[in-house]
Amino acid sequence: MSTPLRSQYLEIKRRHPGLILLFQVGDFYETFDEDARVLARDLGVTLTRKWFGKDDVHPLAGVPVRSLESHLQKLIQMGHRVAVCDQVTLPGKGLVEREVVRIITPGTVMEPGLLRGRESNYLACLLLSGRAIGLSYADVSTGEFRTTELDLSQALAELHRIGPAELLVQKGLDFSRLEPTALSQPRPGAVTEISEAQADLSAARQALLDHFGVLSLQAYGCENLPLSTGAAGALLLYLRDTQPDALLNLTSLSSYQADRFLLLDQQTLGDLEVFGSWQGNAGPERHTSLVAAIDLTATTLGGRLLRRWLRQPLLDLPELRGRHDAIEWLLSREPLRARLRQSLNEVLDVERLLGRIRRRLAVPAEVQGLSQSLRAAAEVRASLVHHAAPAFFLDPLSPCDDLIGLIGQVLDQAAIRAGHSRELDQLRDALTGGRRFLAELEKRERQRTGIRSLKVSFNKVYGYYIEVTKPNLRLVPGDYLRKQSLAHAERFFTLELKEHESFIANARERIAELEASLYQQLCEQIGSHHERLCRLAGGLAYIDLCSALAEGAARFGYVRPELVDCEHDLSGLTITAGRHPIVEQLLPAGRFVPNDTVLCPQAPDGTQIMLLTAPNMAGKSVYLRQVALICLLAQAGCFVPATAARLPLLDRIFTRIGLADHTTRGHSSFMGEMVETAHILHHATPRSLVLLDEIGRGTATADGVSIARAVLEYLHNHPRVRALTLFATHYHELTACADYLPRVHNFHLSVREHDGRVEYLHQVKPGAAERSFGLHVAQLAGMPRPVLRRAQELLLEHQSAAQIPPAAPVSGLKPPWLRALLDLDINELSPVAALTQLYQLQQQARGPAEAAPAEPEHRLLPLQVKEGK
Ligand code: ADP
Repeated sequence: MSTPLRSQYLEIKRRHPGLILLFQVGDFYETFDEDARVLARDLGVTLTRKWFGKDDVHPLAGVPVRSLESHLQKLIQMGHRVAVCDQVTLPGKGLVEREVVRIITPGTVMEPGLLRGRESNYLACLLLSGRAIGLSYADVSTGEFRTTELDLSQALAELHRIGPAELLVQKGLDFSRLEPTALSQPRPGAVTEISEAQADLSAARQALLDHFGVLSLQAYGCENLPLSTGAAGALLLYLRDTQPDALLNLTSLSSYQADRFLLLDQQTLGDLEVFGSWQGNAGPERHTSLVAAIDLTATTLGGRLLRRWLRQPLLDLPELRGRHDAIEWLLSREPLRARLRQSLNEVLDVERLLGRIRRRLAVPAEVQGLSQSLRAAAEVRASLVHHAAPAFFLDPLSPCDDLIGLIGQVLDQAAIRAGHSRELDQLRDALTGGRRFLAELEKRERQRTGIRSLKVSFNKVYGYYIEVTKPNLRLVPGDYLRKQSLAHAERFFTLELKEHESFIANARERIAELEASLYQQLCEQIGSHHERLCRLAGGLAYIDLCSALAEGAARFGYVRPELVDCEHDLSGLTITAGRHPIVEQLLPAGRFVPNDTVLCPQAPDGTQIMLLTAPNMAGKSVYLRQVALICLLAQAGCFVPATAARLPLLDRIFTRIGLADHTTRGHSSFMGEMVETAHILHHATPRSLVLLDEIGRGTATADGVSIARAVLEYLHNHPRVRALTLFATHYHELTACADYLPRVHNFHLSVREHDGRVEYLHQVKPGAAERSFGLHVAQLAGMPRPVLRRAQELLLEHQSAAQIPPAAPVSGLKPPWLRALLDLDINELSPVAALTQLYQLQQQARGPAEAAPAEPEHRLLPLQVKEGK
């Protein structure tokens, strides 16, 4: 037999499938059954049991009501969807009534405490039909709402670019269909399956038409894109069923085409550490990321815009020139930038404030925050007007004095201002009059009864009363009615007092009502200026971001890149004194060594593929990434870390860097490496930039070299591929490719060796590296001495085995190199000295005819150590 409480719980739970139900029982939110297990696991709270009746026992886990918010935050960040069910009647006889008062899901959060200010928070919806995908996404906290239609093969990259906090999909969607190449990227945040009714294309279309109150979707650019429309409509339907008031903020929809942007998949974003994490929005930004290095914005609006620019670099030359012009204009106006920054520091998150105001979630302090932001916006506008700023800065900043005035008229701090409503003023007067009345009553009653200590007072439980101390009780008049006895006194009331009490209570109630309705009116009035305020927020974001980028350009020495659109042609790339934007900031000022890059595949002897050989730690990966980051920054509309840059508009940047992370993605590292390389070879075009770092490293040397070489040849020879390529390798054999592949050129990172120590100069120079310094790196990495010594022995053996000619001299007459070798005291040698000796011996042994660089097999691959990855 179950209890009524259990039945009530089950009934509410049934109405909210898929949500964790936090069920208020007194001072705790309790969860039961599977929810309790999840809570115990993910919040680390104790799992116990609760008895509902004699033999009905269930798992229980709970959190105190007062710490709800912090627990919600954790649950949402872990991708859970939560319903908060409160007690809505006071405990008395029988069962307390309970209702779900809040539904919070990762993609529909509105609470400032649960959102990251500088990150958009997207709810996305993906519909699949055949090979076509409809993908829509919305940030209900800001009102951004977009939709697109794409091919299966692009879907995953686009999804990862968006990085939704919550993804809606059709029931039973097979994710492996999105990942035909077993390129199993981490899943996006929380995945929610929607019902068939919500995923129905025509119902979805109708929902869109109804929501926007239109007859055609022409204006939104998706009239003839059924999957686009379907995905956007399904997202609306889902919101309508779960959080109808979230729809209020979605006032417009825009369609876009994913192939109009530079494509960056999750792999590339991660390898280049653009946001510094593999999880898109789901994980925190790492300290050392591109965005952390260049984000000098003053507002969360600008911060979010920067992330959007970086996630979606453009292919549109005029648009990019516009961004670059804006930055350039601000770059030459240092004092203006300082003033703008001062004003912008006062601008709060206008987009999200507006969203909360429209949904009636905002408290008066937030409305005041909006007012403060509007005043700051007026200052921004005034400064810009003063400097005769171009129209694209000024136009969105329409003056909002009317709204500032309105808010000032209605609100005084957190309350409705005196003088705003006649009725409210009268009621408030009555209340203060009421207090006066009590003071007078006290005086009057003291006189009438002659009790000097008589008090008229109030408490929450008993209301108003007249208190008389025990010794004075005999003086109490006959019209006093007894209310309560205390140890030292008695409390009374009179009819007059009773009347007054109900008058006060009524006034209070009416005041609260009136204040709420006046406040609501104000919010509605503000909400009706939604469009103007959204434009203003967009304008402020743009100004903030451009002046932050200009500030960064001035501070870090970035320049405006020159962009060239070569459409289908092979396009070149020239970077003069380029730098890595993140590494440069991690090193002491002036320590980063800038390097040039020149790729010009169209010239007769020009470089399409830079083959970069160098010892480990020389700076290969830094150099590769720096080139890609410069291109990405340029196409995001930013200035770049170089003294000059002439860059093509790239369609895509591919990276295959490092061995890290593969094991967490469920591949053997070599398999993962090959899958990714194959992916690149299938998709790269002459307009792509490809970075390959140490491919083939995950397998035996002979295989590795062969694969690396075949990949290199393919990139060079295949007419559809022919991408601009930076190819870093430690396989010296590959340098020979430059002899027969005209557009492959060798480069190396220079190293200086003196006193047995290797010094990295980090300079990129033409020509192949002479040799690798594996043992040196091992030593630097703190390998135990016995291991280093043994490695040296092995190196020696290996080389002797390889080098000693089969017909060794039988006579007692040993060649000089062999004698020298036998004379070596290995125990006394430092590793580097040994390496040097070895090198010389080898040269002698080979004789003058054969002074080729050492074979790669002789290098100790497992000893290679990488830093900072
Ligand atoms: P590799 O890929 O050749 O093993 P990395 O690119 O990882 O080497 O660079 C190793 C370290 O050298 C980096 O962590 C960085 O501190 C330093 N470094 C790399 N390039 C430069 C440079 N251009 N100027 C100064 N220091 C650099």
